[in-house]
Amino acid sequence: MSATKRVFIFLALIVLASLPYVWPNPYYIHLMVVIGIYAILLLGLDIVVGYTGEVSLGHAALFGVGSYTAGVLVLKLGAPFVVALPMAIAVTAIFGVILALPALRVTGPYLAMVTLAFGTIVQIFINEMDFLTNGPLGISLRKPAFFGYRLTATDYYFLVMAVMVLTLVVVNRILKSHLGRAFEALRDSPVASDCMAVSVYRYKVYAFVISAALAGLAGALFTYSEEYISPNTYSFELTVQFLLAVIIGGRKTRSGSLIGAVIVVMLPNLLSDVELFRIIAVVVAAITVGYGAYALATARRSKQQVLIPAALTLAMAIFAYRITDMTDYRLTIFGVMILFVVYYLPDGIMGFLHGLVMQLKPQWLKRPEVLVGEGESHVWAPPEHAVAVSGNLLEARNVLMQFGGLKALDRVELKVAKNSVHGLIGPNGSGKSTMMNVLTGIYKPTAGEIEFNGALITGQTPAAIAGSGIARTFQNVQLFGEMTALENVLVGLHHTFRSNILQVMLGTPGYRREEQEARLRAASILAFVGLAELANEEARNLPYGKQRLLEIGRAMGLSPSLLLLDEPAAGLTAPDIKDLIAIINKIKNHGITVILIEHHMDVVMGISDTVTVLDFGQKIAEGRPAEVQSDPKVIEAYLGGAAVQEGTC
Ligand code: ADP
Ligand code: MG
Repeated sequence: MSATKRVFIFLALIVLASLPYVWPNPYYIHLMVVIGIYAILLLGLDIVVGYTGEVSLGHAALFGVGSYTAGVLVLKLGAPFVVALPMAIAVTAIFGVILALPALRVTGPYLAMVTLAFGTIVQIFINEMDFLTNGPLGISLRKPAFFGYRLTATDYYFLVMAVMVLTLVVVNRILKSHLGRAFEALRDSPVASDCMAVSVYRYKVYAFVISAALAGLAGALFTYSEEYISPNTYSFELTVQFLLAVIIGGRKTRSGSLIGAVIVVMLPNLLSDVELFRIIAVVVAAITVGYGAYALATARRSKQQVLIPAALTLAMAIFAYRITDMTDYRLTIFGVMILFVVYYLPDGIMGFLHGLVMQLKPQWLKRPEVLVGEGESHVWAPPEHAVAVSGNLLEARNVLMQFGGLKALDRVELKVAKNSVHGLIGPNGSGKSTMMNVLTGIYKPTAGEIEFNGALITGQTPAAIAGSGIARTFQNVQLFGEMTALENVLVGLHHTFRSNILQVMLGTPGYRREEQEARLRAASILAFVGLAELANEEARNLPYGKQRLLEIGRAMGLSPSLLLLDEPAAGLTAPDIKDLIAIINKIKNHGITVILIEHHMDVVMGISDTVTVLDFGQKIAEGRPAEVQSDPKVIEAYLGGAAVQEGTC
């Protein structure tokens, strides 16, 4: 953490601690409590929305489950705070599992619908279960008491703020750890996550459970802060507000969740007080016009990109002074705000500010990432594999892969010798990529079996197969786009972490050591594939050739004994291809077996020990490169297939 950040956090804590004394207005203290509670929920919601990239419209319901668990425990059993709070967290976490189940099957709008249904059902249940929840009448209770001392509103403010700060620290630790990287990875490419031995299944459930637990915590705190709960609080509107807060504040940042909470809680006030609305409208217009002028002067944006938002915010400011009463315009203004954010601040307020800071980029604000591993002494070498030099590492027997009537693989036999480079070639659509997907468990073969390292792996999950030592790259690059090159490799190194979530939350020395070691290793892997300079660049911003090399680096993170490369040279420039060949040779020299699909004949024939040729899903030839090249059947297949030398299929 940088010194500036530390000072900023210290000041923020002082402001939080002194607020009730400098501004002892019960109304505002209560508002602050609600902001703190919402912030806890939003920190959790961002794990699902920002990190795993799923939409949840069920979080108001989870909030309600937390509230009601605490409320019912107090009402029926007179449970003390120290019991009600953990119970609320636990019960809501279980509901998180229920919400995660559909998320494992559907995504996007379908998941939004399912979570919405979940929310509605929970609200109806709370309403109908009179015997437990008092139904529409709601539950009344009082602030928590400790050893006979009942907390005042100010005491409770301190309690909530302490819990909020603690949540902030813990969530931040989780998201900065290998767990957070797993959440992000499964958002950007589920299939690549699985193939890096990071089970999408497992981490989606984790994300929902952590998120739900925080919603439960927030819900229980809300029960005590309001001292009265009723079912209609946990409505569809609330769930939409939560989502908006994350989007407006800015996803994937803790500060975004805090700002989002402030906005959502203040919005009703803002939209009912015309004086306040005027001030804010003028401030927003001033910022937009000011930034627009700067962006125009420095040619960062086009005229259109600057003039429309400037005109819009100016009009809003003028409008604010022309109206005397807000009530009729509330919804319209709300709608305009949402449109404005979606159009002009797609990364939310924090994303915008962050972008601004990065543009100005004073030296002391540059990414403080420590990168070790520069210089030869640190250059990573793949671990030597103690495998016997003879024998087969992989045997695919009688593999049949059928898609409807199409036999993409038709009874293919493949034996890959240990410590060899095995070329796999064939015209477009001959089943090469399908073979790779079958070997890595992405497709389950219709018939046949696959033996790897002496054990059958047919039917195992991709994550399990990756874990047993098969790494791969993809024909269509599957990087984790929003993560840096270093983080991409760190996902490949996920398997080196032994620490569980509790150790991450506590930040134990053991966990810190693991993280440190993994970073060192990732940095030297990047040096190995020649990307040391680009370590902190987001993967999606890398040139295409570098992306392919990064995919190989990420695969090496797994310390595989078998590496599958699906057309690694496709789309590469000649110098990049030279680098690639050197890297494949280095990998082979360290005892890693390679299966290489490639259309560049010079590449395959140059480095392969054995080549297998597929055509229409059938193996038509196999042998040393020279033999295969002169095989009439192979020439026929290629000529028949219009002599494709380069392709994308
Ligand atoms: P290539 O040798 O070019 O990598 P592929 O393995 O990608 O060929 O494809 C082989 C055949 O299998 C093609 O006809 C392709 O359309 C078909 N195929 C591959 N995957 C699927 C799928 N998931 N569903 C249906 N057909 C598929
Ligand atoms: Mg292919």
